[in-house]
Amino acid sequence: MPQTYQNYINGRWTGPRSGAWLERENPAAGDITCSFPDSGPDDVADAVKAAADAYDSWRFVPAPRRAEVLFRAAEMMLARKEELSRDVTVEMGKVLKEARGDVQEGIDMTYYVAGEGRRMWGQTTPSELPNKFNMSVRQPHGIVAAITPWNFPVAIPCWKLMPALVTGNTAVFKPSPHSPMSAYNLVRILEEAGLPPGVLNLVFGGDKTGAALVEEPRVSMVSFTGSLEVGREIGAYCGRNNKRLHLEMGGKNAIIVLDDADIALAIEGAVWSAFGTSGQRCTAASRMIVQERVAPAFTDQLVSRARALRLGDGLEATTDVGPVVNQPALEKVQRYMDIGRDEGAAVACGGSRATGDGLDRGYFFQPTVFTDVRPRMRVAQEEIFGPVTDIITCSDLEQAVDINNGVQYGLTSAIYTRDISRAFKAMERISTGIVYINAGTIGAEVQLPFGGTRGTGNGHREAGQAALDSYSEWKSVYIDYSGRLQKAQIDRPDG
Ligand code: NAD
Repeated sequence: MPQTYQNYINGRWTGPRSGAWLERENPAAGDITCSFPDSGPDDVADAVKAAADAYDSWRFVPAPRRAEVLFRAAEMMLARKEELSRDVTVEMGKVLKEARGDVQEGIDMTYYVAGEGRRMWGQTTPSELPNKFNMSVRQPHGIVAAITPWNFPVAIPCWKLMPALVTGNTAVFKPSPHSPMSAYNLVRILEEAGLPPGVLNLVFGGDKTGAALVEEPRVSMVSFTGSLEVGREIGAYCGRNNKRLHLEMGGKNAIIVLDDADIALAIEGAVWSAFGTSGQRCTAASRMIVQERVAPAFTDQLVSRARALRLGDGLEATTDVGPVVNQPALEKVQRYMDIGRDEGAAVACGGSRATGDGLDRGYFFQPTVFTDVRPRMRVAQEEIFGPVTDIITCSDLEQAVDINNGVQYGLTSAIYTRDISRAFKAMERISTGIVYINAGTIGAEVQLPFGGTRGTGNGHREAGQAALDSYSEWKSVYIDYSGRLQKAQIDRPDG
């Protein structure tokens, strides 16, 4: 039986004032998994009011106490990991092993941030004047709107909500309409972990609900992960209205394979990075930039590995690649097959919807490798977000780096080489936010900053200590205990 989920506002599970509901289907089988509110501006306003009311008390709860709630939530997520992971697979399609990784990333982030409750260091500096003390402390922004995509339905909300809450903000969470179950599971756990009413509120809904949340005047910060087009729109609004903003957007990530690389190792990384989560990771490698001498061997091996991948329901242990998220995603991938062919690229394997063998009711696309791709082609520039990768040949490291950097996105890059000098040169010259040496483009750990340059981001980072910078601002404090008026820059020994 499909579940019905409600919004969570001011500590109560409640139906939408809009009276409108949405449904989510399982992308592997087409059956309806749940229904949930299509929240309108009134629902959003209720949630924001609850967050505003709770802010004045939550911000003064000592950070170590705030962190204890998060620590308990991490313990509960760990205890329920299997159940949470299965829900991820059922609602967005990634295979169960990867869904467990998604949930584990959320758990890791929650433990990591809980530790920050007892650190959250500021700075102390010497003063230029006697009997004066200088320090800086973090302060929260206020109400954070967390707007998330479906492709990491547990990890990404944890990246946003946990640092937002530990630094003393309250939050309204608007998850993707394609991953409502995971959003419900996470909020339920935080409720059970003891988060006070109003500190975290959940409003389900689609794009209009997200827009209403961004435009709510009491929202002080928007933290958005999703597509470049939507991020730009949100960024323009926040710029005009002076709202704090954190954007994480698309990618066109590449793996560079030089002629001294361990090709077998590079193939393992390429298969995992291109086809994991059906190519729907923001970090997915959709371009292979391969030095000419090794390109034929690399291409043959990649194509044969892509052909051998077993498509199916992600809950089945034998499945390598699940479906794409929905019908529009399937149609978009299909469109790019024509775009690529029209530009002169060749489809070396895949190229169409996968059917038969129980796949007909789901949104399955064959793992696809484009060859004869030139760097400026649309298939080499635009985010397709499906199980599709390109092979682009290059003559040397310099050209490989130019091709790698020559896209509007800047999230991840990888290079395979056995030459330490070439690896370091590449690491210096590659302009993405994340670089992997002798590993695929995926596999970020929560203790380092995560985010992209150029069109992928706006300079902020998730995860690591950097996350605290996104969700708090600095307050500089000067304490003068001289008992007299002292003037910085003016009261000097040299007059
Ligand atoms: P999307 O941009 O369509 O939607 C993301 C979220 O924004 C959803 O919750 C959606 O309802 C909401 N939204 C849509 N229009 C809105 C508007 N006008 N105002 C406010 N909210 C709005 O993206 P998606 O399809 O859910 O996710 C896929 C995209 O996310 C890809 O481009 C992928 O690369 C990107 N992504 C990036 C990262 C990263 O860290 N850089 C991580 C994961 C996904």
